[in-house]
Amino acid sequence: MKFGELEFHMISAGHVLLDGGAMFGVIPRPMWEKKMAPDSRNRITLSMNCLLIHAGGKRILIETGAGDKMNAKFRDLYGIDGPFLDQGLRNYGLNSANIDIVVNTHLHFDHCGGNTRVEMDKVVPAFPNARYMVHRGEFQHAMNPSERDRASYVPENYAPLEAAGRLTLLEDDGEVVPGVELIRIPGHTAHMFGVKLTGGGKTAFLFADLVPTTAHLPLPWIMGYDLYPMMTLENKKRWIPEVVREGWLAIFAHDARVPAGYLRDRDGRWEAEPVEID
Ligand SMILES: [Zn+2]
Repeated sequence: MKFGELEFHMISAGHVLLDGGAMFGVIPRPMWEKKMAPDSRNRITLSMNCLLIHAGGKRILIETGAGDKMNAKFRDLYGIDGPFLDQGLRNYGLNSANIDIVVNTHLHFDHCGGNTRVEMDKVVPAFPNARYMVHRGEFQHAMNPSERDRASYVPENYAPLEAAGRLTLLEDDGEVVPGVELIRIPGHTAHMFGVKLTGGGKTAFLFADLVPTTAHLPLPWIMGYDLYPMMTLENKKRWIPEVVREGWLAIFAHDARVPAGYLRDRDGRWEAEPVEID
């Protein structure tokens, strides 16, 4: 997809199966299972959607999925399955060495596991020529998570980047390159970024885990994983109406069926009109 000079593609880094109850917080199962049917272990299928952006002369990757470093038990627990990111990059004639910048909206394992890979028993940066960017507060929390969210953080996805001097810790909102803007939308974590893409008079907005799927568009449909659900609510009330009003393309980090779409207000209910980002 092209917005003026800015070009972007959606690449799935595979699937992850997460507990349906945890994904929908206070929403009772009879309601969410109509939108997303769980498997025999109560898990729903989520895609790990990444963006490949060509802008400002740079190739930028937003998110890297869960990667494939995990052991068999972890892989089974979360039902992690490919095709992984390298396959997606190959479809565009690229490999890991072609990526200049990697951005993680936050450091939960399903967003940054592909940051690193195992090479001869050592965990090394998976993108040998890239700078990696994440919010400083998110990184600090990820290095020292609480008892409640420890399971979401796997230090080998980001600690080796810092050790290799490859990590840029961001203090605030800002542009990665012109047309690619990171905006803090806290709630899921304290410092999570959303990503706004602009070019040629058009705008797209990646909600990250503020609105992970189209099923999460209604205001109270907030994940149980969120550390600050009331902040999620405030940010949904701020950003969803803005995306609708301004006619931005909405991008969902975990929706396997409707990864992107234009949002419409239908009698007070937000709906996504699917758009394919090739
Ligand atoms: Zn996520």
